[in-house]
Amino acid sequence: MSDSSDATFDPSRRRFLQGSGGALLAMGAVGPAMAQSAGDAGTQGAALSSAELGGETFELGNGTQPPEEVSAVSPSARGRPMPEIEQRYPVEPKRRLGWAVVGLGDFALNQILPAFGESEHSRLVALVSGDRDKAQQVASRYGVDEENLYDYDNYDSMADNDEIDIVFIILPVNMHAEYTIRAAKAGKHVLCEKPMAMDEQECQAMIDACRENDRQLMIAYREQYEPHNLEAIRQIQDGALGELRLMTLNAGSPVDPEEPRGQWRLRKEMAGGGSLYDIGIYALQAARYLSGEEPIEVSAMISSPEDDPRFAEVEDSVTFQLRFPSGLLATCTSSFTTAQHNMASVFGTDGTLTLEPMSDYYQHELRILTDEGEKSLDIQEISQFAAEMDHLSQVVREGGSPKTPGEEGMQDIHLMRAIYASATSGRPVRIESDYRRSAEELVRTSDDHGG
Ligand code: NDP
Repeated sequence: MSDSSDATFDPSRRRFLQGSGGALLAMGAVGPAMAQSAGDAGTQGAALSSAELGGETFELGNGTQPPEEVSAVSPSARGRPMPEIEQRYPVEPKRRLGWAVVGLGDFALNQILPAFGESEHSRLVALVSGDRDKAQQVASRYGVDEENLYDYDNYDSMADNDEIDIVFIILPVNMHAEYTIRAAKAGKHVLCEKPMAMDEQECQAMIDACRENDRQLMIAYREQYEPHNLEAIRQIQDGALGELRLMTLNAGSPVDPEEPRGQWRLRKEMAGGGSLYDIGIYALQAARYLSGEEPIEVSAMISSPEDDPRFAEVEDSVTFQLRFPSGLLATCTSSFTTAQHNMASVFGTDGTLTLEPMSDYYQHELRILTDEGEKSLDIQEISQFAAEMDHLSQVVREGGSPKTPGEEGMQDIHLMRAIYASATSGRPVRIESDYRRSAEELVRTSDDHGG
């Protein structure tokens, strides 16, 4: 075969390139004055032709002895010691926990399954889907054994499969409780997507089922494992903003009934609510974890475009206000009809913190403005999906409890239902809840399993 790629590997051309590169390097080493003189052929003597330099060697060093470690390096091919590991380094496959992903929709396929490639402690071993063809296609790409494909009817037989330790529920909201409870009864630990369930009764039933079967239950609040959000909590806890007075938090994402993922989101009996349940929950979550407080009162308003059939059953836009025990007030918004956005601003007596984007999949920015000026914190992005899964894997393997347990999911459901109650009654609602989290708990990272 002769094509243009052959030319690239022409050995004579390769030698020529090495020679001319060496010449340029040598000129760089002796300084610009000499490099220039080589170009002044007419006045300073004959110019060297790079074509004449093949095979030439150049003395580049200063003539001293190199360090012992450097002279010990062999010029022939051979193995070398382990380099310093700067990237995530997975534990041995046998020590990684086996995961089953339940529901092969948009989020599972585009974000969660690829994230197994970045996880250290978690391994994809099984899939649950109502569409066998899709499941087989996905299984073939991710190396999942055909024997480990389940559907919603034979789901409970996962009990006989020791390879599966944890199931990840990525179904419409009305199915979260049923599939969590069935998983716990099958002896599996559960990571369940947000929002946790339709109402508090379902949340409690999920918590009880996991407790009775001695299984862990975690809610997939990925931002609580995401480094920019964690750093924002630390900065606030360390007093970078002084005393907190106000917060604004906003989440918007257009909903499209032509996309499968947009369809169940517009049915109240499947989604539980509209933009509040789906994305307003990010604003509510962040208001709670950034402030480190739990609301004592909420008030809210809802608005949906008249005659827009998308909002026959669920709400479009919501504004809600939260009052915290310290006197801090938060104003939050969510919408299904604005362009995509998600952001938080926290206003304190000494400064302002902004997270924008706040809850994106792959991109975040954290800025702090004080009298000393504005700084944007340089923080490495990670796969928050791998981080949250690895957190639960470590909790299951080493002991401890997840940072975002069922009770954390239930608190949001309780507050969102109070928000609906306020919006529909037109009156503020006082919150009766003893739920609290410590400052240490809020800054726990994905690697801190607490076991
Ligand atoms: P999709 O509609 O894209 O996927 C849902 C999947 O659930 C379907 O593909 C299907 O899987 C399964 N399913 C079973 N029964 C039904 C049914 N009657 N109607 C519709 N689907 C059904 O939704 P998403 O992937 O967007 O959302 C799924 C979950 O993930 C939700 O809880 C959502 O809130 C959450 N989510 C979380 C995000 C985050 O950032 N944390 C982001 C996006 C979503 P199959 O065909 O395999 O049976």
